[in-house]
Amino acid sequence: QAKKAGGKGFHFYTKRLNELAHERFTIETDLRRALQRDEFVLYYQPKVNILTGEFSGMEALIRWQHPVRGLVAPESFIGIAEESGLLTPISKWIIDTVCRQLKSWRDQGLQASSAINLSASFFQHADFEATIEKALVQTGIPPESLELELTEATIMSDPQQVLGSMAAMKALGLQLSIDDFGIGYSSLSYLKKLPVDKLKIDQSFIRNIAKDTDNMAVVRAVLNIGRSMQLKVIAEGVENASQLAWLQAEGGEEAQGFYFSRPLPAQGMTALLQRGSQPFADTVSTNWH
Ligand code: C2E
Ligand code: MG
Ligand code: MG
Ligand code: MG
Repeated sequence: QAKKAGGKGFHFYTKRLNELAHERFTIETDLRRALQRDEFVLYYQPKVNILTGEFSGMEALIRWQHPVRGLVAPESFIGIAEESGLLTPISKWIIDTVCRQLKSWRDQGLQASSAINLSASFFQHADFEATIEKALVQTGIPPESLELELTEATIMSDPQQVLGSMAAMKALGLQLSIDDFGIGYSSLSYLKKLPVDKLKIDQSFIRNIAKDTDNMAVVRAVLNIGRSMQLKVIAEGVENASQLAWLQAEGGEEAQGFYFSRPLPAQGMTALLQRGSQPFADTVSTNWH
């Protein structure tokens, strides 16, 4: 009986593996065509100064407008793109697109700056620095308006080389931040050596911040690290008023999340930028505490 069930399970398992391999192959084939067919889109999510309700920046997030599957989230294709060497051309497209979008907003008199997420492989790629420099020169946007988000895993994948690229980016005038901070394993002594401007507290710590005392302790610790190391700290994944109130009470200064705005297509972001200098003033001044 057990053997029979096990055999059946195994059959099911190999069938599922074949399906997954096939699925992966299809995605890879489609990804190869996606750039030529112009199927990638960037969405932009605001970062908010929670003291004033002003914009403190935004983050560009990639989506894939697939002809059959619809809008595909980055987590479903970034890994495959990276493994099949496609992330280099995609990363170049992201950098060019963000810089051209920033130029367009600035030409309309809208003060915009944006962060880009960079994968480890592209940060270590030979063309990386030249790609950034070329995009800055071609668009003429100020280097300070561009921020690069790196995860701890990216930094630790090849600390020597990544540190070199980070220094080169700082020398150009870009802003650097550590994404998903707290879930990785960077030691605090190492953090001191990194030329970063900002820590982005991972959203998993914010999710149940009002109830989970462990998460509270982590977020408080990161806010303190920021204060003592003169690093800006931003909380990711703020979804409601109580999370915002908690952060405000703890002296947090910046946040990002669905409570302020979901990631928006470029036109939606244009409308938000046109709402003046403090579009989130009402949101941050809820009389919650
Ligand atoms: P990330 O850089 O940590 O981006 C934040 C993710 O959290 C985004 O998901 C965003 O839509 C989502 N998010 C923002 N606010 C909230 C909130 O209040 N609640 C919840 N539940 N989620 C929120 P998204 O756009 O699906 O991106 C997922 C990840 O994919 C990103 O995590 C980043 O690691 C990667 N990614 C996105 N765009 C790019 C890109 O252009 N290049 C690379 N290499 N990776 C990218
Ligand atoms: Mg990010
Ligand atoms: Mg993050
Ligand atoms: Mg993430």
